[in-house]
Amino acid sequence: MRLMFIGAHPDDGDGRAAGLAARYIDGGGEALFISVTNGNAGHHEMAPAELAARRKEEARKAGEVIGAQYVVLDNDDGKLTPTVGVRGELIAMIRRFDPDLLLGLRPVDYHPDHRAAGQLVMDASYMLTVPLIRPDVPHLRRMPVIAYVHDRFQRPQPFEADVVVAVDEYFEKKARMLACHRSQFYEWIPYNGEYLDEVPEGEDERWQWMLARCERRLRPVADMYRSELVERYGAERGNQVEFAEVFEISEYGRQPDAEMVDRLFPK
Ligand SMILES: [Zn+2]
Repeated sequence: MRLMFIGAHPDDGDGRAAGLAARYIDGGGEALFISVTNGNAGHHEMAPAELAARRKEEARKAGEVIGAQYVVLDNDDGKLTPTVGVRGELIAMIRRFDPDLLLGLRPVDYHPDHRAAGQLVMDASYMLTVPLIRPDVPHLRRMPVIAYVHDRFQRPQPFEADVVVAVDEYFEKKARMLACHRSQFYEWIPYNGEYLDEVPEGEDERWQWMLARCERRLRPVADMYRSELVERYGAERGNQVEFAEVFEISEYGRQPDAEMVDRLFPK
């Protein structure tokens, strides 16, 4: 089975879909993460070209943690728009990879690039099956299931939790993936959030600090969807889940029945 995640930046999918992706890979499947921009605006000191090269390498290493391929496209960070050109590029990539499950962002988000990346997946979806669009790449005969990764935005439409997946055993790998994006989690995001002075100097101390931050950020998700976890896993296990990934099924992809949900989102 093949899972494909399309986000705007190198790191967008790691916290919200890497556990499920790792489960695909451990089960003999494949996972491909796409960043539609090169991330060249995400720093306060580095020059854009140098930053883009660094983030490409960070993404490659993050993918390596779970054995996923991480592809970074060369569109400018902070300036992404859902153009026909980028759409065509994504249509070709999705067709070539032919995912069973295609994951993306909802076009409801504070970041313009996230909104654009979400829109691009929606715009690409139906065209995957239309032969005269990108005739150079064979069209898909069957739509993948498309789902959105979890977010907390409420307007105009809050996220709907259609599927919950317990990923406790992958928590540390997810944190390790996120920690690969050093330019972001040790530099730019702390600078932007005014806590750069809290980032420890030593490598071990940094990792412990990162682990604690990931835990604070990722742990509340399981509590937010506790009733859904209990429904899927039963009371005993459902109440014990510490880390969950949550997905909303898109109306634009193939509509999975219960058996297919269990196959595409294995427990
Ligand atoms: Zn992002």
